Amino acid sequence: MKQRPAYEEKLAGMQDDTLLTALASETQAYVRQVAIEYRFTFQEVRMVSQAARDLEMWREGGLREIWEEAEAALSVAGRERKKALLRELDLRMAELASDEKAYPEDPMVRPERRAVRLEESATERALFGRCAAYSDRTVCCGLHTIDAVMGCAFSCSYCTIQTFYGDVAEMQADLAERLREIELDPDRLYHIGTGQASDSLVWGDRGGVLDALLGFAAENPNVLLELKTKSDNFDALLARDIPANVVCSWSLNTDTIIRNEEHGAAALSRRLLAAQSVAESGCRVGFHFHPMVHYRGWADEYGDVAARLISVFSPAQVAFVSMGSMTFIRPVVQQIRRRGGETKVLQMPMVPDPHGKLTYPEDLKIEMFRHLYGAFDPWPNEVFFYLCMETAQVWDAVLGRSYATNDLFERDFARRCLLR
Ligand code: SF4
Repeated sequence: MKQRPAYEEKLAGMQDDTLLTALASETQAYVRQVAIEYRFTFQEVRMVSQAARDLEMWREGGLREIWEEAEAALSVAGRERKKALLRELDLRMAELASDEKAYPEDPMVRPERRAVRLEESATERALFGRCAAYSDRTVCCGLHTIDAVMGCAFSCSYCTIQTFYGDVAEMQADLAERLREIELDPDRLYHIGTGQASDSLVWGDRGGVLDALLGFAAENPNVLLELKTKSDNFDALLARDIPANVVCSWSLNTDTIIRNEEHGAAALSRRLLAAQSVAESGCRVGFHFHPMVHYRGWADEYGDVAARLISVFSPAQVAFVSMGSMTFIRPVVQQIRRRGGETKVLQMPMVPDPHGKLTYPEDLKIEMFRHLYGAFDPWPNEVFFYLCMETAQVWDAVLGRSYATNDLFERDFARRCLLR
């Protein structure tokens, strides 16, 4: 049997901890070829494989193109040549990430449609908790959460809930009973979201999930219960009595981002029609622009969405509007790369936020938030606007206000949105 040369043996041993084996076969072969030629170290295999993976996912040409162009331009030899090539690749990737990305005319390829089953399960997990991203280092609304269902039917490329829970969404059995066990302080106001680990409307009332949640809201008038969705599945909601302390919110984005990155979720026009129907029924609605994405055409498109909202809804129908940016914890970045498929969500300039999460540079976020906030004029006089996961500095720059403590924000939110 023919023996593999020593370096190839070594490369085979290194590849499992890199993205090399996740690449398309032609790209894998090319990375192996240059790794052997330049005797890459483990770190170098990792870096080049990651660059190749990003290029595949971003639909920004191939590694071969960049590498061969750099090789042709270099006259140095030996170790210096390798170093210069890697530096060039690094620079090119940074450029692609920080330039304004452009979505192609023909949308990014959708992942295969997943058939997600909703299954009841009697678990001992805590249903009630704090928003997982709550922090004292950012200006936080103090959202509480009820995870009635864990798992999502949609496949947004910036989210990993679907990777985590797979093709089964788990609904808590005996939900109404479990909700009754939640101990709330009757002397304080709560804002409780139900769409953090799933979508609040997509399941309709399967398993009695809506009845249980609406019943909980009716029994707890000191709660603002938020049903958050990217769907247009509102029939089951409108078929029921909706307590006055329920808000139905839509996570919104531009047509470009929905078409390219929010796979399986309702189109923008359908979300807006759904919100209009719910608002006309007397239930207050809310809108989340989260994550806002920076790409060619973003300013016009986000401005258009704001204009559509202003033309359709009266401020009295709207409980709040929030804005947030693309933010990732580091393991999610790696999970998105491992999952693969076409997406440009990681094609962005990334800097660490106060928690080490990766997000846009502050000046870019401020520019996006200010633009959208300005497009809502004159709504800010009557509708409550807030930022999610942002520092006091960003708040001041965008909204011209902030809160000294999260407790003050939480109380103001409840006062402005629950007691209206
Ligand atoms: S501001 Fe955002 S991150 Fe902070 S508690 Fe509210 S929803 Fe969670």
